[in-house]
Amino acid sequence: MSFSVFNSMTRSVEPFVPLEPGVVRMYNCGPTVYNRPHVGNYRAFLFADTLRRWLEYLGLRVEQVMNITDVGHLTDDADEGEDKLEKQARREKLDPWQISRKVTEQFFADLAALGVRQAKAYPKASEHIPEMLEIIEGLLAKGHAYAVGGNVYFDVKSFPRYGRLSGNRVEELEAGARIAVREDKRNPEDFALWKSDPAHLMKWATRFGPDGFPGWHIECSAMSRKHLGERLDIHTGGEDNIFPHHECEIAQSESFSGKPFATYWMHSKFLQVDGGKMSKSLGNTYTLDDVAAKGFNARQLRFALIRGHYRAPLNFTWESMKDAASSLENLDDLVVRLRRVAKGQEGAGQPQAGLELVQAARKTFEDGMNDDLNVSRALPGLMALRAAALEGRLGSAAALDALEFVRRANEVLGVIQVDEELLPAAIEALIAARQAARKAKDFKESDRIRDELLAKGIVLEDTPKGVVWRRKA
Ligand code: AMP
Ligand code: ZN
Repeated sequence: MSFSVFNSMTRSVEPFVPLEPGVVRMYNCGPTVYNRPHVGNYRAFLFADTLRRWLEYLGLRVEQVMNITDVGHLTDDADEGEDKLEKQARREKLDPWQISRKVTEQFFADLAALGVRQAKAYPKASEHIPEMLEIIEGLLAKGHAYAVGGNVYFDVKSFPRYGRLSGNRVEELEAGARIAVREDKRNPEDFALWKSDPAHLMKWATRFGPDGFPGWHIECSAMSRKHLGERLDIHTGGEDNIFPHHECEIAQSESFSGKPFATYWMHSKFLQVDGGKMSKSLGNTYTLDDVAAKGFNARQLRFALIRGHYRAPLNFTWESMKDAASSLENLDDLVVRLRRVAKGQEGAGQPQAGLELVQAARKTFEDGMNDDLNVSRALPGLMALRAAALEGRLGSAAALDALEFVRRANEVLGVIQVDEELLPAAIEALIAARQAARKAKDFKESDRIRDELLAKGIVLEDTPKGVVWRRKA
């Protein structure tokens, strides 16, 4: 079975075929850095990371770029409202550049904590103004755009495919209230490529006027072209990016280059809270710190956010975090058990026993991932292996094979404790064995276990309340 993905453009699942064999060029809409991204945003970014990891598992080289929006994203997502960064800057009495620096640093720290693989580039919008102006000039020259009083707009009627991605029809948009009517626009649904505003803090002088700044959509057209070229294999974002953001990107990029922009458009569903969208404006967001304060680490959060299908609804609750943490513990335990079976400490007597179970588990995992990155269909492969290990159906050779597979699967999931570091469950088991040896007055054995733990960095302390352990600093 080959990798198939749901393409928002065609609204169907299609086999994935990159433009250039062996290479995938992927652009992910990144954060608007006015506020620390919340776990909902990380659902979108972890989806992109899982997708990249799966493509790499399949042996493809992934050129991945995620942008940083540091200017031009207005509060209403279209042409009205305040610049999100400037609004936040006023609130915090900082300048918008300071806000952007601070939040971007925090974002990278969060990505590292969540085990996200580094993209090839994280371009900042404010550092790509010349590239945006180049496209804007090209669109003006080709009659797709027009300048009025310092603003430049894209004429959506010049691009007949406008609306194909979102299913919006220009006539309906015209009638709808979504887009505020501005007098200087030819058509109410035209969108800004460049805006003029003397009060804007982050601004650039151009031939259109002294105080201008880019529209949010042109940023991604310019940064993707600069870092990946005119044609992309995959473009991702959260579901809210479909319209207007991605619809507008397509209109700009395709009108400028005359080529199809992205082959596959992939959108992850929103993370919800209490059945509604998690969003900063609703004040129902959580950051990694909020999650840590409830006693969950970033690895557990990563698992909670990736373990379902990216197009399935996901409701964020502390109960669901607890559930994710306990499933993850089972996956960690799978490794501990497989190691024991591989060493012949337990399991089936026949080394080859259960090899076919490992094959089946691998197939379940790969089929699930190949089915539009359906992690929830893939995970039962790993769970079945744990059941097989627990029930003594695996021999040592099968366990070695299984360990190799779990390691590979974890290259994609990035959550399982697969290194040799002892897990709490394994430590507790060794402590119990040491207590039993002491009780049987087998001090040689109890000392041996103590030394074994020490060699692995675990220090035991006998206290009146029993044995406690800690990791050596
Ligand atoms: P922003 O910082 O608002 O530009 O959003 C960055 C990314 O996070 C975009 O791809 C959004 O679609 C996505 N996003 C925003 N809110 C959520 C949410 N509650 N769940 C999932 N993705 C989200
Ligand atoms: Zn974007």
